[in-house]
Amino acid sequence: MRLLICNDDGVHSPGLATLAELARPFGDVTVVAPEGERSSSGHAISSSIPLRCRASKAVGGCPAYRVNGTPADAVALALHLWRDIDVVLSGLNAGLNLGPAAWHSGTVAAARQATLNGVRGIALSVPATVEGDDTRLRPWVQVVLSTLLEAPDAPALVNVNFPREPRGVMWTRASAEGYDGRIIPGRDADGREIYWFRIEPVAGVDDQADRWAVEQGWVSMTPIALDVTDEEALATARLTRPLDTVRAAQVSRPVSSGEEAARVREDEIQPPVHPVVPTS
Ligand code: MN
Repeated sequence: MRLLICNDDGVHSPGLATLAELARPFGDVTVVAPEGERSSSGHAISSSIPLRCRASKAVGGCPAYRVNGTPADAVALALHLWRDIDVVLSGLNAGLNLGPAAWHSGTVAAARQATLNGVRGIALSVPATVEGDDTRLRPWVQVVLSTLLEAPDAPALVNVNFPREPRGVMWTRASAEGYDGRIIPGRDADGREIYWFRIEPVAGVDDQADRWAVEQGWVSMTPIALDVTDEEALATARLTRPLDTVRAAQVSRPVSSGEEAARVREDEIQPPVHPVVPTS
């Protein structure tokens, strides 16, 4: 099995080395990670700067490379350069990625990028407080890796979160209740108003979801879908406001053609920036 290890904490993160080391018994491991920390960068890609992949010092005894981009950039580039990757592991992130955090997490985005490229992805996050002393969690990371890597029918994309002292592993759903993002006002050194976008703990979240499981001491494994369509809302909207009745009534729907696809693509990309010519 060929494994790619990435993260959003950067190529020098201790959690990256731990994951690479623990993944080695499962196959051939290559590490490709952002050259610096890119936490909370979500699924950003660098569409306007060229990417480079440079050899770096070995990480966890595995060959390692650093990329001047985001976690998603690193994974996409690595999957282009190494075509035979079976699974991408992202982590061990210093800090949990529960519920809504999956939207802004670079750790989850790296795993999701793998799935977008048709490769399985697993995001692994540990409490920020365990950095430097992960001895208690190591056996549980091994349990998760063997559970997910050795099962042929394992989900394509899984978000795994570890409590400080696990007592077992549990399949969970992503908690959607209780958004934990908060704007915290403060002052800079000159007394001017500034704001921090912080994650504050929320209590009373939905039963059986990832946050609940970690609170109760379980390692949480949440399969994540790429299709974010709200099926219930879509069904209701089609029923109550059937805007596409004309097309729905047609026996055969128009098929997307290469010509039409190219036209939409043209509308998606920004035109090249032209140099400003000074007028004399
Ligand atoms: Mn991070």
